[in-house]
Amino acid sequence: MKNNRKGMLQLCTLSGTTEIGRNSNFVQYGDEIVMVDAGYSFPGHEMYGIDYLIPNVKYLKQNKQKVKAILITHGHLDHTGALKWILPELDYPPIYAGGFAKALIEAKMKEYKMEKKVKIYEVDRKSQINIGRNFKATFIGINHSIPDAFSIFLQTPKGNIFFSGDFKIDKEPANEPQSDYEKLRSLRGKIDLALMESTNASTPGKAPSETEISKNLEDIITKHNGRVVVSAFSSLITRLYSLVEIAKKTNRKIVISGRSLEQAISIAREKRYINVDEKLLISEREMSKYPDREILILCTGSQGERFAALNRISLNEHKFIRLRKEDLIILSSSEIPENITTIEKMTDRLLEFGVELIKDGVDTKIHSTGHGNQEDIKMMLEMVQPRHIMPVHGSLTFRYFHKKNLVKWGFDKNKIFLTEDGQIWNYDNNYWNKGKKVESKPILIDGLGVGDIGDVVLKDRKQLSEYGMFSVVLNLSSKNKKIIGRPRFISRGFVYLKSSYALLKETENTIFDIHRDWEKYSSQKGKYEEKILIQKIEKQLSKLIFKKTEREPIILVAII
Ligand SMILES: [Zn+2]
Ligand SMILES: [Zn+2]
Repeated sequence: MKNNRKGMLQLCTLSGTTEIGRNSNFVQYGDEIVMVDAGYSFPGHEMYGIDYLIPNVKYLKQNKQKVKAILITHGHLDHTGALKWILPELDYPPIYAGGFAKALIEAKMKEYKMEKKVKIYEVDRKSQINIGRNFKATFIGINHSIPDAFSIFLQTPKGNIFFSGDFKIDKEPANEPQSDYEKLRSLRGKIDLALMESTNASTPGKAPSETEISKNLEDIITKHNGRVVVSAFSSLITRLYSLVEIAKKTNRKIVISGRSLEQAISIAREKRYINVDEKLLISEREMSKYPDREILILCTGSQGERFAALNRISLNEHKFIRLRKEDLIILSSSEIPENITTIEKMTDRLLEFGVELIKDGVDTKIHSTGHGNQEDIKMMLEMVQPRHIMPVHGSLTFRYFHKKNLVKWGFDKNKIFLTEDGQIWNYDNNYWNKGKKVESKPILIDGLGVGDIGDVVLKDRKQLSEYGMFSVVLNLSSKNKKIIGRPRFISRGFVYLKSSYALLKETENTIFDIHRDWEKYSSQKGKYEEKILIQKIEKQLSKLIFKKTEREPIILVAII
């Protein structure tokens, strides 16, 4: 984008295009930039101690005076979670977000004590906002799994881009209006490029309505005589609404277990999306005062997360909840593929209490996705009829099949683009051409530090977690550099020193040998470099230890 011709329209699919999570795109026209979403993602299992991955904003930082706004499609963290780190880098550009997303972002900003610096403007289904000299953003209400979700239509003097956001077509949404079909249809003929989410592009048919799920849950809960424990995602606010309504109808008190659920429900109550009398919400402590059939426990942990409520219940280590065979447990959620084994181990443990268990399955639909299936995507496209389409928000495999569907539905394959993170697309008033790429390698966030964790540190953590640490402390005479006494050894997670006499003896001998050679070499050179001694010991010991134990602990040598 360096030799940017004035008045050219460019789109950068900065992040989150090739997987689910870490969504962020930006559009540049002349000397103005508008970002759409700023989410984070969670690291894979091999990234030890890394909390989040955020989009690389190097290019945006270099051009921060051009960044006029960040538009937010909805309040999920894969679309908003990176704001905390990105905002200060870009000198806090104004944010435009729906009411629910705004409340969630504000809560986070308060947590980080940034609330005074952040400017968030609330948008609604009627909002149309002029940004800078060149942009006009129209927010179009759609259904997802959180209220106030939007598609965004961004107009510029040289072309218009539509961001579908996460959406499904729900003809009977829970406690919110349906997607704004009329407004979507009004975009026909105006969209030069549509970025469409691909999450469920491989799932045939239509995504079930939230109301259908709610009815099924109500049937099940009404029939049960004992306590009911429901585990649901705290990000699926529409489901939480349904569950609260069911509790009211079935005359059950609600017990909330899990911090993220508490937070989500409290914000939903603040926004008056969930209306529930204080008397209906009781604490875990008060539960025993009520008969079992008047209790509905909402808890976190549907993915078997180690410290979430449901897993602690299964391990019988929850402070207040002990399972009994009269209890019913409902997993109103999907199973993220990489968690399937963990979830099963948890449900095994739950079943050992003799409880009844209901999972989302073929005969009982108790979970619905917030992302449109093939039929939903098709309906959306029929409404907006874009000139070009870019499937995003999914792996290449998902986007590839998304493209195949589009071709099957009659879309010209030359007008469908599969993009990559960091890819810039230039619009020439007729066609989108691939331009340069900006740096897009995600930034690793580790607790409080930003971007200071490299591959070396990750490798160390992996090694530590697998093999532990073995350290050697050598006391060298400052006068003649001879070893005083014997080397001392400290081990963490590697071997139990007391039972490793033979290994330690051999290690000690090796160290004396290396030291002798170093001493000789150094006196010839007339210079004693301890760094060389340390390196030699570390290298030799790792060879020796691997030979003897087939393990590779981190080896640290300290000279005192
Ligand atoms: Zn979402
Ligand atoms: Zn998303």
